[in-house]
Amino acid sequence: MIPFNKPYLTGRELHHISEAHARGQLAGDGHFTKKCNTWLEERTGCHKALLTHSCTAALEMAAILADIQPGDEIIMPSYTFVSTANAFVLRGGVPVFVDIREDTLNIDERLIEPAITSRTKAIVPVHYAGVGCEMDTIMAIASRHNLLVIEDAAQAVMATYKGRLLGSIGDLGCYSFHETKNIISGEGGALLINNPAFAERAEIIREKGTNRTQFFRGQVDKYTWVDIGSSYLPGELIAAFLWAQMEESDLITASRLKIWNDYHESFQVLEEAGRLRRPVIADDCVHNAHMYYLLLADLAERSAFISCMLKRDIRCVFHYVPLHNAKMMIASHLPPALLPVTESVAACLVRLPLWIGLNHDLVIEAVLDVSNISG
Ligand SMILES: *Cc1c(COP(=O)(O)O)cnc(C)c1O
Repeated sequence: MIPFNKPYLTGRELHHISEAHARGQLAGDGHFTKKCNTWLEERTGCHKALLTHSCTAALEMAAILADIQPGDEIIMPSYTFVSTANAFVLRGGVPVFVDIREDTLNIDERLIEPAITSRTKAIVPVHYAGVGCEMDTIMAIASRHNLLVIEDAAQAVMATYKGRLLGSIGDLGCYSFHETKNIISGEGGALLINNPAFAERAEIIREKGTNRTQFFRGQVDKYTWVDIGSSYLPGELIAAFLWAQMEESDLITASRLKIWNDYHESFQVLEEAGRLRRPVIADDCVHNAHMYYLLLADLAERSAFISCMLKRDIRCVFHYVPLHNAKMMIASHLPPALLPVTESVAACLVRLPLWIGLNHDLVIEAVLDVSNISG
C-alpha cells in the first residue's frame, strides 16, 4: 500500500537529540531552539521568529497579539484547517468567511473589501498548498482599513510571493512543522513577527504571561506575571529534531518539487482531454511542492477515483470540509455564508501521495489508467 504521507527523516535527528540531551537543558529556548529561530529570521527576513509547539499555537498567539475581543470579526477563507478560525473563536472572535479563487483556491481578494465592517480586526490569508495569496492587494486593503494581516503560512514554508518568503509579509506569520508538512518535527510550528510592535508582547505571551525572556537577557532583575499568556514554546528535543530538517530544507524542497513537476507534466494530457484540472501557480509565486491535487468533475467522480486508486493500493485523500458548513459554525447561528467555489472545490478536490522516497511513477501510471477507465 502506498500511503498518502510518509514523514521524511534526514538521519541527523537523533544525533541532534542526543546532543540536546548531553547539553542537559531540555526545556524550551535552549541551544537548538535558538538555532531554529535564527535560521527562520535569516531565511525569511522577519523581525523575530519564535518556535511554538504547533501552527495552531502560533495562530492563538497571533489572536492574542491582535487583541481580539468578543464580537470582533476576522476575514478568512472557509476552505482551510479548523485552527485558522478556532484560534480567533477562542478569544470570542467571529470568523467571516469569504470565497476562494477558482484558480489558486486561495482567498478571493476581490471579496475581502465588501466583507469589512466596523468590527473587522484582521485578515487571515491562507496560502493553500504553499501557493501565495495575492499579498500586495491584501496588504493594501489592510492598510486602507487599518486591519492586521496574519498569514496562515502553515503549508508555505520556503515558498515565495514576488521573491519574499510567505509568512514574512503580513504583520504576523504562522508556520507548521507537523509531520504532514514539508519540514517537520512531529508537532511543531513558529510565529514570525514582521511588525516589530508585537515582538516584546509575543515573548511574554509565549512564556505564560511572564517577562521570563527579558529576565534571561538580563533586562529585568526578576521575572513576574505581566500579561495573559500560555505555554507555547516547544522543548529542546523537538527543536533538535527540527534543526536536522532545517539543515536539509533546500534538499527537501527540491526533492518534493521533482515529484510535483513530474505529476504536473504527466497529467497535462488529462487536463487537455477535459478529464480534470491541475493546480494553478500564480505568476508571482514560487511554491514549495507541499501538495499535489487534482480537481475532478464532481463528488461522484472523486469518490470513484479514490476507490479505484485504493484498489491499486494507492491512498489518495480529499481535503477540507469547509468551515462555514461545519457543525461548530452551524451551532453558532450566524447567517449562512454562500461560498460556491469553496463548496465545489471541497467536493471535487483529491490529493495525491507526495513524499520523499515515493515511487511516484506508480502513482502516475495509476492516475492515467484510472482516468481513462472512468471516462
Ligand atoms: C496544518 C495546518 C494548520 C495547523 O498546523 P498545526 O501545526 O498542526 O497546528 C493550520 N492551518 C493550515 C492551513 C494547515 O494546513
